[in-house]
Amino acid sequence: MRTLPPSLSVELTTRCNYACPFCYGIWHERPSETAPDRELDVTEWGDILVECACRGVESVQFTGGEPLLREDLDAILDCARAVGLSVILYTNGSLLTEERLQSFKQRQVRLATSLPGLASYGTMTGTNHSPWPVLEAIERAAELDWPMTVGIPLARPNLSEATDLVAAAAFAGASVVQVGPAMWEGRMRRNTAWMLNESEWKTAKAALQVQPKLSQRVVCSEEFFCTCRTPPGQTPVPWPESAAGCPAGQEFGVLGVSGRYRICLHATEEYDWRSAVRSEDPTRD
Ligand code: SF4
Repeated sequence: MRTLPPSLSVELTTRCNYACPFCYGIWHERPSETAPDRELDVTEWGDILVECACRGVESVQFTGGEPLLREDLDAILDCARAVGLSVILYTNGSLLTEERLQSFKQRQVRLATSLPGLASYGTMTGTNHSPWPVLEAIERAAELDWPMTVGIPLARPNLSEATDLVAAAAFAGASVVQVGPAMWEGRMRRNTAWMLNESEWKTAKAALQVQPKLSQRVVCSEEFFCTCRTPPGQTPVPWPESAAGCPAGQEFGVLGVSGRYRICLHATEEYDWRSAVRSEDPTRD
């Protein structure tokens, strides 16, 4: 029986109330292949999550798009918890109400959000929003004693704010602050002027590592370009062999909006893993 990696990122929707010019969603690159006409419903995700748990998955990170736009989100979270999966919910934070925060804590759903800007927040998110609702949600989660990881993607418009962003996230109460360069994927493929070069990222990372000690953990990405990307003109290597070349692919995989499998967040090729499993296992119907 083919196993899956212990950790899966699950993309529940391509819809989002933000329009970040750095958005990593692969459906921005291949809309006809990766943005299906409809989202899978609770029953379909429930079946997939049972199969994932049977095939070695221990934790799932629900993401999107913005997963809080799904009205059936709580039911999907409950399906995952019911089969014993550890659950993290990635959200842009704009829809995190007090009621939602308390409900996630009650369901034992850990949280992760992003803080892509302070003065640059509107530019970075393609909205006229301010960062304050997200900072307040981080603070409230800390008051509820419920962990929230905060990701900070760096690009040219927010680079000068890097240390302030880390400090703001940490002082608001983030349990972990993760900083990394916005990568060459999704919408960023059409927005290369925003991309940091490797030297800019190393300089920013060095500056973050000498700032005054903060009580929270600050983690800087080691990754600048993902090797899961098939270079233009080359034939994609089929999964699972393709995962052999990517360190993340050993421990981590992605289910896209249609339930198909990718070897990591940055890979574009999707695989129908459930059909492949069924044809290998004659005891299944
Ligand atoms: S990066 Fe996240 S918040 Fe921004 S548009 Fe993409 S899915 Fe939405």
